[in-house]
Amino acid sequence: MSTLANREKLALFGGPKTIQTTFKRYNSIGPEELEAANHVIESGVLSQFLGVWGEDFFGGPKVQQFERACEAYFGVKHAITVNSWTSGLVAAVGAIGIEPGDEIIVTPWTMSASATAILHWNAIPVFADIDPETFNLDPKSVVANITPYTKAIMVADIFGQSADMDELMAIAAKHGLKVISDTAQALGALYKGKYAGTVAHVGGYSLNYHKHIHTGEGGVLVTNDDEIAERLQLIRNHAEVVVGDKGVINLSNMIGHNFRLGEIECAMGIEQLKKLSGFVKSRQCLANRLSEGLSGLRGLRTPVVKPDRTHAYYVYPMVLDIKELGVSRERIHAGLQAEGMTVSNRYQNIHLLPMYQKKMAYGSRGFPWTSDICHRDVSYSKGICPVAEELNNSTYLGFGMCVYDLSDQDIDLIVNTFQKVWASMDELASHD
Ligand SMILES: *Cc1c(COP(=O)(O)O)cnc(C)c1O
Repeated sequence: MSTLANREKLALFGGPKTIQTTFKRYNSIGPEELEAANHVIESGVLSQFLGVWGEDFFGGPKVQQFERACEAYFGVKHAITVNSWTSGLVAAVGAIGIEPGDEIIVTPWTMSASATAILHWNAIPVFADIDPETFNLDPKSVVANITPYTKAIMVADIFGQSADMDELMAIAAKHGLKVISDTAQALGALYKGKYAGTVAHVGGYSLNYHKHIHTGEGGVLVTNDDEIAERLQLIRNHAEVVVGDKGVINLSNMIGHNFRLGEIECAMGIEQLKKLSGFVKSRQCLANRLSEGLSGLRGLRTPVVKPDRTHAYYVYPMVLDIKELGVSRERIHAGLQAEGMTVSNRYQNIHLLPMYQKKMAYGSRGFPWTSDICHRDVSYSKGICPVAEELNNSTYLGFGMCVYDLSDQDIDLIVNTFQKVWASMDELASHD
């Protein structure tokens, strides 16, 4: 491993940069999407949704065609498109029948919308800790956070790997809870032979521009539950004016929004879906090559993929053993960045966002936490999620693979960069 290149002076200390150019940006959109979008534009029908009970309540031909394609692809009874996955999460929480003040257990290691979707319905997010290897909700911490007020679990399949769904679904069954799966980042990943996102009571995917496939903005909800599906469709499209004519009896949370996705996006989504497995497979090959190349480096843990699932590598996560290395994460991060290697030294600890720290969301008086709908004083203090906090504070490094269109040569260059930085670890230590 100690070739001449590996003993080169680090860029951080004035040596040559290993990565001279930025990697090619990933673009999943091709001539197929262009043609599909053109057809819609020529038709003049860019959306065909009506917020009344009737045929057009379900949207136009491309919306419905894309939804049927998603159902076939993911093997679910119902797929429902929405104008963003943030909208999808809001619809999901409303659809499972949450009451104001109900508690929903959620991971802090996720995009902020997983938890704000809970607040949207004046329910209370309760943060449980994560598993240090997979970064997903730790079932033991979920159990420890269940109270008589808990009604659901919001799981995120973070970075591209499914959470421990069998364990979480068993906990939910035992306590009468619903499970929502935020699978925004794990589109196309498998859990025990099923697509991630399809194991929960309701799950789904983001189609925003930096995910595996996209329609600019957009999302897809998936569920096998007929009643949840109907409620999702209603929340998507002005529920309150539709329920009467549709004969809907259960009016709870039948406050509708306009969460409708357009015909152009759905026409492109149909084409994108055909490319999904190819995109995911190519990222898996690249990630495997990267893991192999980095495997000899001491104190660096490459992604842990559980044997019963596959990883879609939205992010390629790494963990440093700081004690073994004797160098701070910040120093190593600076060393990699100086070489031209873009890695992130943070992800999310959303319980520490100002909104939770100050308990201020709706208005300025602390609603819903200060209201009597809130059953107890829920803690968002530092220290409630020690695993997630330590990862964020000192040991996590992430490579946002999904952003790039990488070649094998790019991967080899990344491996060289890590080897170079690792070969000078003692020098980094002396500057720490
Ligand atoms: C991207 C993402 C979202 C939000 O999706 P949008 O389509 O951008 O609204 C939610 N959760 C996670 C984990 C995400 O990665």
